[in-house]
Amino acid sequence: MADEGKKNSALETVDPGDIDSELRGFYRLPMRRRRRHMAQMLGLTKEDLHILSGDEGLRADQADHMVENALGVMGMPLGLCANMRVNGRDWLIPMVIEEASVVAAASHAAKLLRVSGGVTVDVSPPHMIGQLQILDVPDAAAAEAAILECKDELLASANACDEALINVGGGALDVVVRHLAPMGADDPVGPMLVVHLVVDVRDAMGANTVNTMCERLAPRFQELSGGRVRLRIISNMADRRTVKASGTVPFSALEGKGCDSARDLALGIQEASVFAERDPFRAATHNKGIMNGIDAVLVAFGQDWRAVEAGAHSFAARDGRYTALSRWRVTDEGLHGTLELPMAVGVVGGITTVHPTVQVARKVAHVKTADELASIIAAVGLAQNLSALRALAAEGIQRGHMRVHARNVAVTAGALGHEVHPVAKAITEANNICEAEAREVLRKLRTEPGAITSPDDMRRRFQALGEEYMPHILDHIEEVLTEVSGRSSTLADMCRYHMSTGGKRLRALLPLLVAETLKVNPTYLVPFGAACEMLHNATLVHDDLQDGDKVRRGQETVWSHYGTSQAINLGDAMFYYTLLLIHRIDFPRARRVATSRRLLHETLRVIEGQELEFKLKQSASPTLADYFTMVQGKTSGLFALPIAGAAELCGPPPEVLEGLQEAARHMGVLFQIQDDVLDLYADKGRDEQGSDIREGKRSILVVHALENAPEDRAQWLRQVLDRDREQTTTEEVAEATDMLREVGSLGFAVAEMERRKQQALGTWALRNHPQLLSLVEAMCDLFMGPIRPVIDRLDL
Ligand code: NAD
Repeated sequence: MADEGKKNSALETVDPGDIDSELRGFYRLPMRRRRRHMAQMLGLTKEDLHILSGDEGLRADQADHMVENALGVMGMPLGLCANMRVNGRDWLIPMVIEEASVVAAASHAAKLLRVSGGVTVDVSPPHMIGQLQILDVPDAAAAEAAILECKDELLASANACDEALINVGGGALDVVVRHLAPMGADDPVGPMLVVHLVVDVRDAMGANTVNTMCERLAPRFQELSGGRVRLRIISNMADRRTVKASGTVPFSALEGKGCDSARDLALGIQEASVFAERDPFRAATHNKGIMNGIDAVLVAFGQDWRAVEAGAHSFAARDGRYTALSRWRVTDEGLHGTLELPMAVGVVGGITTVHPTVQVARKVAHVKTADELASIIAAVGLAQNLSALRALAAEGIQRGHMRVHARNVAVTAGALGHEVHPVAKAITEANNICEAEAREVLRKLRTEPGAITSPDDMRRRFQALGEEYMPHILDHIEEVLTEVSGRSSTLADMCRYHMSTGGKRLRALLPLLVAETLKVNPTYLVPFGAACEMLHNATLVHDDLQDGDKVRRGQETVWSHYGTSQAINLGDAMFYYTLLLIHRIDFPRARRVATSRRLLHETLRVIEGQELEFKLKQSASPTLADYFTMVQGKTSGLFALPIAGAAELCGPPPEVLEGLQEAARHMGVLFQIQDDVLDLYADKGRDEQGSDIREGKRSILVVHALENAPEDRAQWLRQVLDRDREQTTTEEVAEATDMLREVGSLGFAVAEMERRKQQALGTWALRNHPQLLSLVEAMCDLFMGPIRPVIDRLDL
């Protein structure tokens, strides 16, 4: 009960009168911000937002209780119909539908209808009909009289079935007898008596209630009629439980895009309406358009949409000829529309109180009663119909439909994420919506200018992404620090101190660059960028300690400033901050879980690499094979994570993901080699040049020299490396530096970088993705950039 109270708290605390359904610019916001906006406006909880994100919602075990042979659950998009005003109040109406454009169309028409006050809906009392079929009645007239004679007794007996319903003011109300004669010579069954039990079902859809009552009364009807009762079941032609929606669109509101004259457009809509009223062929499609909106709201609210569909179509044929459910007429005020149909919906019973997403939908719409639900459903039906007729009468609906078709063709041709829109647009404009054309457009798109083709492009993109997103990345980091440690915490202060050393923020921005290349909005990758940056810095804090480096980017390192123990504490904490940042990623849970797993794997690879590095340091004769294994963990892990992790979140096909992962490993090796080279031959902004020699680090140059130098020179180098860093003189570092060049180790390192670049570019899985390959190439060139002057200076 406590949970129930919590779940419904929003319904109690938010005044529905305060809800403004005009959500300007809502569609342009990223989904996470849309949800946050709704949470603030409607008092939705964190759990509600999780449910909407697809992370929670209907569980498999719940589904198992709902249907037989359950295998799982299936997701559907849930959108929000905006701008709707019904009976003088604004409503935000969730719609669940797989078809594009329906939600937008309903929202647009709701905007037109609200100009003259919105939609008015009259809801009839919730009277449902249960039917009993009685056959072989000896005297139909006498049976009818006997039944009607006992009406009070029959109603009392029915009402004894459902005390709860009586308590809320519902119950069986009337008994009506009908006589159905055979329909013709080929009708094999004799006359039948059909009894209608009319039941007020209040806030329920009513099927179970009515069926139970009919079952209970069946033996008594048999007695009273002297016949044989066969069926006892609810009728979905709920013609006593209808909704009537109406609204007017002033001519002024119809003016605008695709419309030269508002009056002509209104007349066009009227003609379209009359066509459907006269012709069942047209009426079927006209009514389908209405049901597009109605069904979407029914599904969002866990309703039996088949019952409403059946009710709608039988009602449309109630006079013996199938016709339109709605009517549009031109009046002095504008275009006036009405829609009437049965609406058997409930806010109790069925799955309405079981399905978690339905609970959230109810909070969003602030629906408390079946009447309210019926009203907003009818209003959406009317709006949907208006939108469809407007499009048909103006530009023709095919244009809209072809847009959807073009998008599907683009996806089939292999377009990813945001490639879909430009490809679909291009093939539509070329009037050639086919897969071959889509593939050609896609090929051009992937090689067109705008793709990153040079290190300069890359630098510019990094700078632009940094300016736009780095503040948000740092915000996420700051939020996690304060969320865990509060404002005044030494741990958080140490983290801020370390992060203030700045740096290229490569790990933070790489995921955003990958997202951009895969045509996914980089905003979604911001928390992931923050996580990668945090992880990278966690390893640096421990690295500085292990290597004994006292200065990083001109600032005292953490261990040197705060002490060894604190540096261990901070490094550890930063690994966990990283995990918390991963939790902030707003992608479906499955992808987030995959990303966390990738993070843990890559982190362990980095640690294994560091562990191997420690072993290599103590080895007298390390091999290049050992070196590459070490680097592929230690350095490549921190490239594979931001690159392949970002790709995993963006969701390209698995082979592209694997391709990026493979390329990232080569890029990581390349990056480490340039770092090794720079340490000896350029100034990296650490405490001094050649610190790797002083530390005894087994860089690629050192390992190559130990393998290839004459034994006496190798022996000398070993001695220098194994000495305490303080005892190594500047002259010895200089001599070692010269030696590494002379024995060809520098040349080998540079050649290896080139080889790694070629391997990255040769990644088979990326062969059809020139844009990704240019990204890889530009990244390799960017990494090699700092050693170009070294290569030129030393004339390699
Ligand atoms: P239900 O029987 O689960 O719940 C209705 C019951 O809730 C009432 O009988 C009453 O006892 C109680 N109740 C408590 N508060 C109430 C209130 N304020 N108003 C009304 N009742 C209240 O649900 P139901 O609506 O009778 O049946 C709906 C289910 O039946 C749906 O799942 C539907 O799919 C299914 N169904 C439909 C058909 C059909 O042909 N339409 C046929 C069979 C089953």
